[in-house]
Amino acid sequence: MILIVLDGLRPDAIQTLGLSEVARLAGRGVSTLTGTTVAPSVTAACMASLLTGVRPETHGVQSTNFHIPRGRGRMRPLPRVLADAGYPSSAFMCRVPWLMRGIARRIAGRLGLGTTGFHGTHANDVLAGAALALRAQRRGLIVLHWPDCDDAGHDHGWMSEPYHRAAYGLDAALGRLLAGVDLSPTSDTMVVAVADHGGGGTVPTDHDSAHPLDRTIPIVIAGGGIEPGALRDGAHLLDVPPTVLRALDVPVPASYEGRPLLDELEPSALAG
Ligand SMILES: [Zn+2]
Repeated sequence: MILIVLDGLRPDAIQTLGLSEVARLAGRGVSTLTGTTVAPSVTAACMASLLTGVRPETHGVQSTNFHIPRGRGRMRPLPRVLADAGYPSSAFMCRVPWLMRGIARRIAGRLGLGTTGFHGTHANDVLAGAALALRAQRRGLIVLHWPDCDDAGHDHGWMSEPYHRAAYGLDAALGRLLAGVDLSPTSDTMVVAVADHGGGGTVPTDHDSAHPLDRTIPIVIAGGGIEPGALRDGAHLLDVPPTVLRALDVPVPASYEGRPLLDELEPSALAG
């Protein structure tokens, strides 16, 4: 399972800019351009929700600062649940400031991530850094975080010219990734591409509001033998972690607040 977080990629950018690789991936699987993310729609809160299966008010990461989720009650982080089922998890993102590295690795360890890589400043750097894992890790979960659109959005505004360029860059990186991934009907590799939040809703250079442009996200799932189609209405970021577990045939913890997105598909559609 390859989970790609396209930080700050607004769903309308996919159509407006004609992001052909995202569209091609969507065409091979199930997707929505009207998914909803958590509140607050900031990356740390969204990533913590993706990795714990619960909303920010439950996991406790509600600002832009990353810290180890304490939350209420016992956390069952997704990589840990997978590890308990015998599946490895690894995560790759951009370089973080030197002082942050220790904290980042500690958080990763708590979450149950076996391998964590910090590479460069763009999607391409992260993809290059993950190349070995993408080749060698045949089971479990690989998470890639690509910051390009978010960076351009904060610096120049969502849907600005630099944001367009960042989106095309992301799309090209996705194309390079998919060139090495077997998504044929008999393959048991699955790719999930999701944005953590949108942007430019209330403030042109930010995404922390209840505005639909800030809260609406694309969710794309392909591979693993699933038949092309649309995702159900009301798909939510919180539905992604249980979807990952369901696809790997691992029981979803009762604490998880979303529902698997592949429930409505024919059981036979899930190969492997
Ligand atoms: Zn941001």
